[in-house]
Amino acid sequence: MVGSALSHLECPQCGRRYEADQLQTICPVCDSPLLSRYDLDQLKKTFTPEIASQRQRGMWRWAELLPVREADHRLTLGEGDTPLIPAVHLSADLDLPALWIKDESSNPTGTFKARGLAAAVACALELGVRDFVIPTAGNAGGALAAYAARARVPAHVIMPKDAPQANQVEVKAFGADLILVDGSISDAGKRAADLASEHGWFNVSTFKEPYRVEGKKTMGLELAEEMKWDLPDVIFYPTGGGTGLVGMWKAFSELECLGWIGDRRPRMVSVQAAGCAPIVRAFQTQAERAEIWQNATTLATGLRVPGPYADRLILACLRASNGTALAVTDEEILSAQDEMARREGILAAPEGAACLAGLRRLLKQNWIRRDERVVLFNTGSGLKYLT
Ligand SMILES: *Cc1c(COP(=O)(O)O)cnc(C)c1O
Ligand SMILES: [Zn+2]
Repeated sequence: MVGSALSHLECPQCGRRYEADQLQTICPVCDSPLLSRYDLDQLKKTFTPEIASQRQRGMWRWAELLPVREADHRLTLGEGDTPLIPAVHLSADLDLPALWIKDESSNPTGTFKARGLAAAVACALELGVRDFVIPTAGNAGGALAAYAARARVPAHVIMPKDAPQANQVEVKAFGADLILVDGSISDAGKRAADLASEHGWFNVSTFKEPYRVEGKKTMGLELAEEMKWDLPDVIFYPTGGGTGLVGMWKAFSELECLGWIGDRRPRMVSVQAAGCAPIVRAFQTQAERAEIWQNATTLATGLRVPGPYADRLILACLRASNGTALAVTDEEILSAQDEMARREGILAAPEGAACLAGLRRLLKQNWIRRDERVVLFNTGSGLKYLT
């Protein structure tokens, strides 16, 4: 297998370039997240869809488009290559013939967070990190703990006290250090930043380092491949920190540079919870940035992100794609979860179920035509939310 085509990191805000083979965090000049850039002109000559498709299953099939250099450093527990399931019964119910669910629940630790943390831990280890810290609503902490265990390095997970029981149990089971805090992921974020600077731990908080988004990008690569390099018309994505959304959008432009897809893009839809919808509010008011959401509350804990750090990137993606953002209530989420389970046999995480609730709304508003091809992301397993 050929190595990574990573050439440098770039600040999407000011355009400054940063060294690829040094550990990076955010742009020191404007505090923006950094993005990995690859030598796609060169890669285009050797890398083909056939090569990627013939490799052993899993996220590292896309190694050329991931930031880890050495094959030995590609940490894996079997993440990626999740099924794209035709939602045959919901299709009939909704009179929407082309509907799929990309089901991320089969990832290690039961959510798509595994993709991001596999990439981030592998990359940071390669660049010399030996100790990790993460603020989390729950699932990212579980995923970090698993990959840190696998890599035999310590991890410190800062989680709200009211995070799902399964997340607290898994973090301890993997031998990581669990620190519970009052409040939301924002409060956990402050504590994580303090601990990181005090102890020199590497903070893998969403978009405070550039590698997690690269792992999540593989959802977009897989989706394009599964749809025969002809992207769907609409993608529903439950948005907390927005890593998956920004990652997939980035994947699509990289694929276009490689000549594997054309310039047609899906309309990207951010689904948030009514009790915490900073992106929806910013989208509706045409703001460039999202204001912090006060007193955030929702049972979809992965969506309880009051101040997404990559707000600019998320909003830019929604607008560039002619997409939209909408909030659904916890009642709608629960009823969609029930429906997805009974009708399709998929016990979705509430965040994933939120996508179905959002789809129902947008169909009612005729924002989606019946002949369009729609993909919903179920980002995790409902089993992680049992109480
Ligand atoms: C973290 C999480 C989300 C939100 O993901 P982002 O990429 O941060 O927007 C959605 N669903 C589940 C199950 C999550 O754990
Ligand atoms: Zn910058």
